[in-house]
Amino acid sequence: MRMPNLTDAIGGMSLSSPNRVLVVGCAYGGISAIVNLLEYSNGKARQPVYPGPDFKGAKSRRGVEVTVIDERDGYFHSVGAPLAHVASEYTSHMWKRFSHLNELKQPNLTFKHGSVKSINPEAKVAEWSDRSGKTQQQAYDYLIVATGLKRHWPAVPKSGSYEEYLRDGKSFIEKITGGDESKHEGRRVVIIGAGAVGIEFAGEIKQYYPKIGVTLVHSRDQVLSSEPLPSELKDRVGTMLKEEGVDVVLGNRAKIEELSNGKFEVTLANGEKITADFVIDSTRKGMPTTDILPEACLNEDKEIKVHNSLMFKDTIPNHTSHFGVGDVIQWSGIKRAGSATVMGQAAAQNIYSSILNSELPETAPESDRHGQTELPSWDAVIGIAVGKQCLTYDPKNGIKYGVEVMQNYFGKDLGWTASLKYMGLTDTIDPVEVELKEPEATKLTEVGIKPVSIAA
Ligand SMILES: Cc1cc2nc3c(=O)[nH]c(=O)nc-3n(C[C@H](O)[C@H](O)[C@H](O)COP(=O)(O)OP(=O)(O)OC[C@H]3O[C@@H](n4cnc5c(N)ncnc54)[C@H](O)[C@@H]3O)c2cc1C
Repeated sequence: MRMPNLTDAIGGMSLSSPNRVLVVGCAYGGISAIVNLLEYSNGKARQPVYPGPDFKGAKSRRGVEVTVIDERDGYFHSVGAPLAHVASEYTSHMWKRFSHLNELKQPNLTFKHGSVKSINPEAKVAEWSDRSGKTQQQAYDYLIVATGLKRHWPAVPKSGSYEEYLRDGKSFIEKITGGDESKHEGRRVVIIGAGAVGIEFAGEIKQYYPKIGVTLVHSRDQVLSSEPLPSELKDRVGTMLKEEGVDVVLGNRAKIEELSNGKFEVTLANGEKITADFVIDSTRKGMPTTDILPEACLNEDKEIKVHNSLMFKDTIPNHTSHFGVGDVIQWSGIKRAGSATVMGQAAAQNIYSSILNSELPETAPESDRHGQTELPSWDAVIGIAVGKQCLTYDPKNGIKYGVEVMQNYFGKDLGWTASLKYMGLTDTIDPVEVELKEPEATKLTEVGIKPVSIAA
């Protein structure tokens, strides 16, 4: 990693210049931080999931200027990937270009399409590479790192632009269906790895193309084997997969060989062979995205070490100006979109609180200063789609599953309509309300946030 050096820093801060907030990564965590920060800066506030300081509509004297850098040109609903990359009518739906989101067209919000390569916390400068490969620098007063985990196609898009993504999606679906979505009798797709991603892809393929044979192969004796969840839940998900028509093979590793006729031979550890038209590998784990940061702020799993306020720990200079949200940080429970969304909101509260405090006169009494929101640790909770059914679990409410649970929890598009509605985002081109029937109500529970359970 090359650190931008101190003298590279552009635009030293003056008393009258706006507070510059840089958000790196703009999906659940990043976008939630932006939406909340912009509302605060406009003297508004939404009901926070975790109560924070009451700013009473106070506006920053210097104002707030938000810059976003993301490798993608839009907000992608990773939760919906198993549907987007299986059913063509959902591919474009799950990627909302930033330039098409009405509420993000604001004079104090700028999007930059590119990849951050390194952060120098001492100089408060990020070095990033734009789409043409040109290196640029971005100075900031506050930083939010929301870069998630680096996941693999088809769990998430492999391209950074909407147009390229559409092409990738189309060609992947053709490999599943053989190119003709109406004639797939006799085809077989084998999915290796029964973690959440493999399970959801298996369920969606079977739901959308019932005539395609779907085999899900897993090396352990239970699906979801690496998740810290009750055994009974894992058995139930295994049963649901079978109810949906998926052939589940447990306790077997698989070897894949591509045949000269374009098909694949899958050899199981027990010697059994399956001929597949297409194989999806969902065994690969998400990788850290934190090589852009000094090692001093990371734990041994390369996650950012943060306080309960989401502020970086004091292992780097200017740590009070650096925040991390979502999958990229060290936190309790299972890494989830809902959790990232809640964190984005809390980081916005805490940065805005810092901004207002920094503008108080030195003589201001302590009672005028705003406090920080501290998030509690949370339990492992899950909401998983299995074809037309869904299973939800949290320690307080236990296991719930079935078709009705699916409708209430995920709606028709794996929670995307509800999630956009919760964030208050609308698309200029593809108004979600028109395209798809809305879930009955927009609550945090429907985007998988479940404030009660994560607070437990
Ligand atoms: C198939 C699938 C199904 C899932 N199902 C569920 C579910 O049902 N419920 C649930 O709660 N969670 C689910 N998850 C997990 C959920 O998607 C993640 O927890 C969530 O995406 C984390 O949000 P985030 O904002 O932290 O990061 P991400 O959503 O990963 O976003 C990170 C952003 O940062 C950008 N980025 C990364 N590196 C850089 C860089 N160096 N420079 C610039 N930009 C960068 C990326 O382009 C991306 O836009 C699922 C995940 C997958 C893959």
